[in-house]
Amino acid sequence: MLDPSTPLSKALRTTKEHLRRLEELGMKTVSDFLLYFPMRYTDQREVGRIIDIRPDQVNVVRGVLESIKNSPAWGGRMPITNGVVRDETGSVEAVWFRQPYLGRTLKAGSEVMVSGKVKYRPRKRVFSFQNPTIEVIRAAQVHTARIVPVYHETDLAAEKKGKLSSKWLREKLFTLLPFTEFFPEYMPEEILKTYGLVPLQQAIKHVHFPETEEELSQGKHRLAFDELFLLQLAALKRRHYFRKIAADEKKQIPPNWELVKSFTASLPWPLTNAQKKATYEILKDLEKPFPMSRLLEGDVGSGKTVVAAAAILQAIKNGWQTCFLAPTEILARQHLLTLSKMLSPFDIQPVLLVGSTSAKEKKQTAQELVSGNIPLTVGTHALLQEHIGFAKLGLAVVDEQHRFGVRQREKLKTFGSPHVLSMTATPIPRTLALILYGDQDLSLLDEMPAGRQKIVTRIVPENKRTEAYRWIENAIEKGRQAFIIFPLIEESDLIEAKAATQEFERLKREVFPNISIGLLHGQLPAKEKEQTMKMFAQGMYSILVSTAVVEVGVDVPNATIMLIEAADRFGLAQLHQFRGRVGRGSDQSYCFLFPASVSPNSLKRLNALVNHHSGFQLAEIDLQLRGPGEVYGTAQSGIPDLRMANLSDSTTIKQAREAAEHMIAIDPELKKYPELEKKIAEQENIAIDY
Ligand code: ADP
Ligand code: MG
Repeated sequence: MLDPSTPLSKALRTTKEHLRRLEELGMKTVSDFLLYFPMRYTDQREVGRIIDIRPDQVNVVRGVLESIKNSPAWGGRMPITNGVVRDETGSVEAVWFRQPYLGRTLKAGSEVMVSGKVKYRPRKRVFSFQNPTIEVIRAAQVHTARIVPVYHETDLAAEKKGKLSSKWLREKLFTLLPFTEFFPEYMPEEILKTYGLVPLQQAIKHVHFPETEEELSQGKHRLAFDELFLLQLAALKRRHYFRKIAADEKKQIPPNWELVKSFTASLPWPLTNAQKKATYEILKDLEKPFPMSRLLEGDVGSGKTVVAAAAILQAIKNGWQTCFLAPTEILARQHLLTLSKMLSPFDIQPVLLVGSTSAKEKKQTAQELVSGNIPLTVGTHALLQEHIGFAKLGLAVVDEQHRFGVRQREKLKTFGSPHVLSMTATPIPRTLALILYGDQDLSLLDEMPAGRQKIVTRIVPENKRTEAYRWIENAIEKGRQAFIIFPLIEESDLIEAKAATQEFERLKREVFPNISIGLLHGQLPAKEKEQTMKMFAQGMYSILVSTAVVEVGVDVPNATIMLIEAADRFGLAQLHQFRGRVGRGSDQSYCFLFPASVSPNSLKRLNALVNHHSGFQLAEIDLQLRGPGEVYGTAQSGIPDLRMANLSDSTTIKQAREAAEHMIAIDPELKKYPELEKKIAEQENIAIDY
């Protein structure tokens, strides 16, 4: 038996440099290497006759190598190799640059396959292959006359020692192909059958060296399915463990529907249907014998806060403490106001805990938290500090959850596994959320409160800039207010702050000399930011210039204009979020997009914003136009590094989810599926020890 865990040093005949290079890329064993898949393929199945050769395109011919010879590389000239190939219809030249080993290793008289681009050389009146791939005829062709896999090459310099060229990789992978027979199949038979998947061994083999297109697409599909399946299975398994272990904490909160009624009756407006549904889903979760882990997704302005408040009220009236986390002080303070307004009729006074809280106050709050005296704390990361503890935390709400790291979310669980409600205004399509947040349940606020107007959105070309400024001036004279967002130019807060400051000065001096303007950027002290925000909210500033790093998550109903500089540098989701800062009052609001460059692609994206007003729709469009890596960032946002799967392939994502749910339902600990269990552990690369 050929063991796929054999080290490559034993399985391959090659140089030290190549082995080192492979190892640098994370490939130590045969199995690692065989999972290095081609990035694309060229179809060279059609082998032609020499007489039919066409210039300026790829030709594949078979014939006898009549001659092969290296020209001497005098005085540092490029070594050149010349050859002639003949079949029964004629002969053709071939020329290679910088590949003298060909002249040394190929023998005249061998039967060969040649593939590559052909040029017509008018002076000599011959056809000539330029740097073609040449392969001696053997039992199975590897490099020519087939669907040829093309691998990602790692080093550009041709002579570099240990360079992993596509041809080298192909050659070596081909020799290792017999190992594929011994890859253990971890996928349960029933899943293979239900979803029509080919065996793993076959899939790996066919993705490298397919005989037909069908073999290739079946192989790819199987491997893509596996990636999506394993990720979701791991997430569901994590959820299972977490629920099981945390179940001892007994935080069941039976829903008090009377309380819900009097809460909604106390609000100045009725809840939307989406808010009602989400509230219901959350209250049902709180009742369960394991902690809730739910993500509430909804556009800016869809009204997530009130849903969270309803849950908080339930928990507090059941005797639990609660906390509400926000990513910035500005947001935390705003939530403090909103929540205290909503909850004061129920005798709940929230307490604030943020970075700038005085040491004395912090200490006192910390003490009261452990003694269980504070029912609701609103805070920033400061709430997740080492020394903070709760007597009986029943529910934690995390606003803009993507702004908190995994570790911070884990830290929450150490407060006695509270129910956790995460919230986000980044509208992640449902299927993608399954992959990113597979261990959370999802509630969507896909409906805006009644009476919200559409925000008129326009792309403003550079030559209309002055006109737009005058328009804004006019609106301000009529009493409106405007945001001007100045984007991240450099990956540094400091430089960005400087750029924003310059723009601020310019606007003050040259564009709006008679208008009061405030400036907000990440480098300002918290106190100052807050002061600026307050002044804008109170109308003392008519324009607020802000960088993108600063959350403008403030409710200023009188602000009706949003101007975004270099809008094409932002993702649609973020642009949509900015836009959501206006349109909160009764007046018609406007969003002006100033593109920094006008490529067709960026215009396409900006146009999507002009034409669409639902964050969920925009997220789908962004995903199609840019792909998940760019839309959601890579490592930080937790977008998994997928080799085969396409995160816009919702059909396969859903099938894989269904399959994973099935497995957890029949055997949550995968006791009967040790191979599968092993595979997940391998993938997670960390022990699951809650
Ligand atoms: P989000 O956090 O989802 O962006 P908020 O919770 O801040 O949204 O709510 C946005 C605004 O909408 C707030 O001013 C809030 O008072 C208001 N609001 C929330 N729900 C409703 C509703 N059902 N009807 C009318 N206004 C609402
Ligand atoms: Mg909010």
